[in-house]
Amino acid sequence: MQNLTKQIIIALILGIAVGLGMNFFLPDLFGPVDQYVLSPIGDIFLRLIQMMVVPIVFVSIVLGTAGLGDPKKLGRIGGKTIGFFLLSTTVALTIAMSLALLVKPGTPGLLDSVEIEEEYQAEETPSVVETLVNIVPTNPIDAMASGEMLQIIFFSIFIGFALAVLSKKTDKIYHLFEQAFDLVMYLIKIIMYMAPLGAFALIASAVGGVGLEAIQSMFAYFLVVLAALLIHAVITYGSVIKFMAKKSPVWFIKNFAQAISVAFGTASSSATLPVSMTTAQKRLGVRESVSGFVQPVGATINMDGTAIMQGVATVFIAQVYAQSLSLTEMLTVVLIAVLASIGTAGVPGVGLIMLAMVLDQVGLPVEAIGLILGVDRLLDMARTAVNITGDAACALYINETEPDLDEEEDDKPSLNSNA
Ligand code: ASP
Repeated sequence: MQNLTKQIIIALILGIAVGLGMNFFLPDLFGPVDQYVLSPIGDIFLRLIQMMVVPIVFVSIVLGTAGLGDPKKLGRIGGKTIGFFLLSTTVALTIAMSLALLVKPGTPGLLDSVEIEEEYQAEETPSVVETLVNIVPTNPIDAMASGEMLQIIFFSIFIGFALAVLSKKTDKIYHLFEQAFDLVMYLIKIIMYMAPLGAFALIASAVGGVGLEAIQSMFAYFLVVLAALLIHAVITYGSVIKFMAKKSPVWFIKNFAQAISVAFGTASSSATLPVSMTTAQKRLGVRESVSGFVQPVGATINMDGTAIMQGVATVFIAQVYAQSLSLTEMLTVVLIAVLASIGTAGVPGVGLIMLAMVLDQVGLPVEAIGLILGVDRLLDMARTAVNITGDAACALYINETEPDLDEEEDDKPSLNSNA
């Protein structure tokens, strides 16, 4: 596995070099190479791991919830997980907005020098109440067919809970889920052999496709988002790992690097989920019951990196349009962005769609998203890496602060039998 991590990282670096090189020296060749080689390879890899998302979320949440057993423990861990996610996203937004206010990446002059080339069409975003009601599926098969993650999570927790309560009566079904888990993990292992090639293709395609002018004109914004992501990852997650989970942050990064590099390549938390779960379980030693519960929920509702982009973007756009944000408006941004993070699906680019909702709330023009569209693909990769790192940090924290629930449950078949 160590080897594979190295290969993926080398592939990412090569991909950036090839993408940049083609962008500079062979811009005409990039189109066909991307269309016939890079994009298809990248897409096959993405589709292969996406194929595993619904099975792994369903199976691991059922097992995770059943493994936590006692509803009281489930409630405590659930509460701790959600509390952690809400708090860390609020911290992320505070860092992002403070940095943007301090550095002032946006100036009104920018509007004259850059035209909003790409038309940005805001999509309808569901209201908060709608999002909450929608968590309950009317048809679980339909939820799985359309990949409605929150609905799948709800349904899986329900089944896991019932399996825990029914215990011996349904132990055959429980074992069936255990075997399904082994099967899914094995498939992911096979798919990961393609990861270096897939990551190379995805990143070369993304880097090659971004106009360098787009980066130049939005350089200050680009850097502020990257800096805020880095500060949050190093300071917030570093402190969580060091002081709350009592582990070394360097050890964490070394062992979790594989998942981070896949997140970087795919720009999708959901697609990275199978890899981030296996990495957390196998390399960080997070118990399957904890990882199986915390990480799928996190990949769906916890998006610190996305919130950081939204915080910086809102302040940046306000600066470009010479509008000052009042304290109430800034608090509104925090509140809406935290809620938006729950409703943001873990797929490429959705963070921008949710940004429309945030801008709308504070009366900023939604079409200003066109300004930052050009650099968003690259930032998407970086923020997705932060998104999944936050979930893993939370999983490690819960793992280290909650007693080993699996061992406590003598009458329950061990969830770690295949670890
Ligand atoms: N791509 C991000 C993720 O999957 C979501 C976003 O910010 O667009 O986590």
